[in-house]
Amino acid sequence: MTVKKYNNLVIVGAGPIGMVSALKFKDHFENVILLERQSKETFLKKHGFTFPIVFSPASINILQSIGIWEGIHSQRSEFFGVVLHKRIFGRDFRFVSAKEGGYSHWRNHAISKLYERVIEEGIPVHFNAQVESIDFEGNICTEATLGELPFDLLLGTDGINSQTRKFMSKVHPNFDEHEFGQTFLDNWYAYRLPSKGAMREKFSGGDRFLASNVFVDNLANYPAEKFRIVTTGMRQPQEEISILIKHGAEIDLPRLKVLNESYFGPFVESKQELDEAWDNGYAGKFEQVRAPTFCLNNALLVGDAAHGFESTGDLINLGIASIGSLYEIFTQGSDIKSVLQEYDRSIGEDLRFYSNFSYRRSKEKIGFEMASIEFASRLGLAKRHPTLFGIYEDGFEISNYMKSYKRDIFNSKLLVFSIPTLLFLLIIIS
Ligand SMILES: Cc1cc2nc3c(=O)[nH]c(=O)nc-3n(C[C@H](O)[C@H](O)[C@H](O)COP(=O)(O)OP(=O)(O)OC[C@H]3O[C@@H](n4cnc5c(N)ncnc54)[C@H](O)[C@@H]3O)c2cc1C
Repeated sequence: MTVKKYNNLVIVGAGPIGMVSALKFKDHFENVILLERQSKETFLKKHGFTFPIVFSPASINILQSIGIWEGIHSQRSEFFGVVLHKRIFGRDFRFVSAKEGGYSHWRNHAISKLYERVIEEGIPVHFNAQVESIDFEGNICTEATLGELPFDLLLGTDGINSQTRKFMSKVHPNFDEHEFGQTFLDNWYAYRLPSKGAMREKFSGGDRFLASNVFVDNLANYPAEKFRIVTTGMRQPQEEISILIKHGAEIDLPRLKVLNESYFGPFVESKQELDEAWDNGYAGKFEQVRAPTFCLNNALLVGDAAHGFESTGDLINLGIASIGSLYEIFTQGSDIKSVLQEYDRSIGEDLRFYSNFSYRRSKEKIGFEMASIEFASRLGLAKRHPTLFGIYEDGFEISNYMKSYKRDIFNSKLLVFSIPTLLFLLIIIS
């Protein structure tokens, strides 16, 4: 049996990463508390926009270790692949990357299963929480109704607009406040359509259930208006297609609606169906967290609060996997402050590297890198590119993976450059 070595673990934010952390670390602390800003009613709301996610083998291991994988897995859809549609010199190309034996899950379902387990374990969730201050020297978090909460470890898992990160940035002795910033990437609009008829055939039909079709390009009819569509199909709990449209600030929502209609119009049964689905949609901004460090004394930022960025499947997995890595360092370390420093120096550095990659991805500056890594991986000289299932490989582990990814970028580019150079030399010699 694990000895409870520490007194208090305070977790700010009860999103997936906050709840996974509570369940993973509960045996090491006398008291664990989750502070959640939303009301219980909003938090537990099952309707509204939700999208499917695919858990990587590394995340599944962690979800198994906290006893929630079976519950999540009971509502699943087959997941087979990512299809990238890319227009090159006016011609449409389709790149398919398939994975057998994977499944997608509704995010809301995963969250309600995590919450059930948190309650079963008797871990208190304090809803409507208002964190007033965090004393990073004295290790005290002050909440409006609970008052002073001393902590041995504080985890800031309060998402991309993290208040914990803002507090930390104001007092960090080594870095400026503006260095803990967020960079605007793009706007997005998301909604769902029933998966039936032509819609089903195109986006989730056929003998293979293609869960994610990523249209990297703009539409042929509107070459000047660049946007990207990601569709994800689910068969359970009902047959639906989640649609996420990423667009620059120059395209406003009314214009986006016109572009959307021109694209999805031919696949739905009526315009009214499309309008209703659109009206139930949800708009937001993609922003990238670019923080120089994730920790200060006994407080650590994890999940989107630390390395949030635009995602098509990797974000939640990296958040969960990083809790697993933190746990490993924690169980081997002597005191919390040095554990967090070690985590920040190793895993934190890898996650910052990855967030830089996702920033470039959002700006569509990874085309050549992706093509060269895919080419090298087909020759058995590199792993899959992160965008094409890299993190879904069985042996995925953050540090090793990032190190080999750094090497793969270099080697693959070298390979692609060296082939024409060699050919050129051979021609000259002969
Ligand atoms: C449109 C969209 C599509 C996405 N698609 C995918 C996808 O396909 N695959 C994927 O893996 N990921 C996807 N993501 C990202 C995924 O949802 C996040 O990675 C994941 O939820 C991060 O978990 P988290 O716990 O770190 O943060 P969050 O889920 O943001 O949770 C943070 C929690 O903290 C609470 N909170 C915030 N501030 C405070 C405060 N001051 N005090 C107390 N509580 C606070 C919030 O209410 C929330 O409950 C998508 C996100 C969006 C918006």
